[in-house]
Amino acid sequence: MKITVDRNLCDGNGVCMGIAPDVFDVDDDLTLHVTDEIPDDPDVHAQVRQSVTSCPVLALTLVE
Ligand code: SF4
Repeated sequence: MKITVDRNLCDGNGVCMGIAPDVFDVDDDLTLHVTDEIPDDPDVHAQVRQSVTSCPVLALTLVE
């Protein structure tokens, strides 16, 4: 699993960070940081998949 973010779409609303806080972090400037682009933990994979489908602007994509 590898996570990519479309920076043109992401508005920094933090929905993904709320679901997968070990992977996503939104800073004070509303910039999203992917702190673990290739997570190993299956539980985290599930959180990431939920984040992808929950992103309001569909900015996240996965390569399995
Ligand atoms: S949920 Fe989507 S728009 Fe919001 S911070 Fe995450 S990637 Fe960006």
